[in-house]
Amino acid sequence: MVSTWDRGLAPGYACGIIDKMISAAHPFQTDDPRLRPIHDKVMAHDRLDADDALALYRTGDVLAIGWMANLVREQMHGDRTYFNVNRHLNPTNVCVAACRLCAFGRKKDTPGAYTMALEEAFETAASGYSEAVTEFHIVGGLHPDLPFQYFLDLISGLKQRFPQVHLKAFTMVEVAYLSKRAKLSIRETLEQLKAAGVDSLPGGGAEIFADRVRHIICDHKIDGDQWLDTAKLAHQIGLKSNATMLYGHVENDEDRVDHLLKLRALQEETGGFQTFIPLAFHPYNTPLQHLPKTTGMLDIKQIAISRLVLDNFPHIKAYWQMMTAKIAQIALRFGADDIDGTVVEEKIYHDAGATTPQGMRREELVRLIREAGREPIERDTLYRPVTRTETSVTVAV
Ligand code: SF4
Repeated sequence: MVSTWDRGLAPGYACGIIDKMISAAHPFQTDDPRLRPIHDKVMAHDRLDADDALALYRTGDVLAIGWMANLVREQMHGDRTYFNVNRHLNPTNVCVAACRLCAFGRKKDTPGAYTMALEEAFETAASGYSEAVTEFHIVGGLHPDLPFQYFLDLISGLKQRFPQVHLKAFTMVEVAYLSKRAKLSIRETLEQLKAAGVDSLPGGGAEIFADRVRHIICDHKIDGDQWLDTAKLAHQIGLKSNATMLYGHVENDEDRVDHLLKLRALQEETGGFQTFIPLAFHPYNTPLQHLPKTTGMLDIKQIAISRLVLDNFPHIKAYWQMMTAKIAQIALRFGADDIDGTVVEEKIYHDAGATTPQGMRREELVRLIREAGREPIERDTLYRPVTRTETSVTVAV
């Protein structure tokens, strides 16, 4: 097995206070004997197994995990830290599913339910910050009445109006639902979406693959195997995607490890995943609101473990909207190399009580990254560097 960090990667640089704490320039230290053999494997570029991943979840020595994850991150990316100028677009929150994890979806004709007419969606896409976006991130509910043609028209209409913008649209869950509505196979559905202008897929809806957990948090959506099969088909027809894991609710360490290993196995087969995004569960306004929010310790640990276990994923994202900008900034020293983007208008996690701003200006993202001692790189969705002047945006191809 050749892991990603074996494949011609830049050495890291040591700078900044946190870097002095966790850097290859400073010896690895731990008082947890379970981490010693894992450290040896990381140094030898050997793949971690399920027992190693469980040991990482069960240790309290987050600095030791961070040391290893930071080492790998710097071997892969040096100081380079990616962000993008994007806009979220949620065409409808009407949803036939009633996932207990969700505060966004609404039943048709209930208070707060909305569905954008196509023109409204195009106007919303054009609104927000004046900075030219390079990506629309488009996800929404599973609407019982909207025909497949609405989504094809949405995509082709956006492509026509914003030909330079990458369309990252529809989770595996939405694709599977649209295929049912259109009475098409998943492959045919993906092919039609691609022909209309979808450029890649986001990573949402994966939640936790384990059936036991899915029955509690989202028993109305596709199961874990169907999510993975849909991702595989997308990759097979040339669409890249991301992958997520929703953590911090009713799952246990074994469920998290199972989820990560299934993603790693599929990546080994297709190579179609770009970025892994661990998503902290936000319980407010959901049927699970009796659960506590995740802690900073778990958020940081999850980033570091993701970097170490998902050795064939090029990127690990600290999604600032979910984990706050402050924790995401620290995560850049614990394995993350991406902090997501400007977003402009985030609805899904704010309906669930996220207290972060709905969007962030480009220069604020740059400042966050620089203050973490890292080098900000504006990227497009496919991680090609973007050069921006007052009058133009150029993507290096
Ligand atoms: S998580 Fe997605 S599928 Fe589930 S209720 Fe919310 S919008 Fe619908």
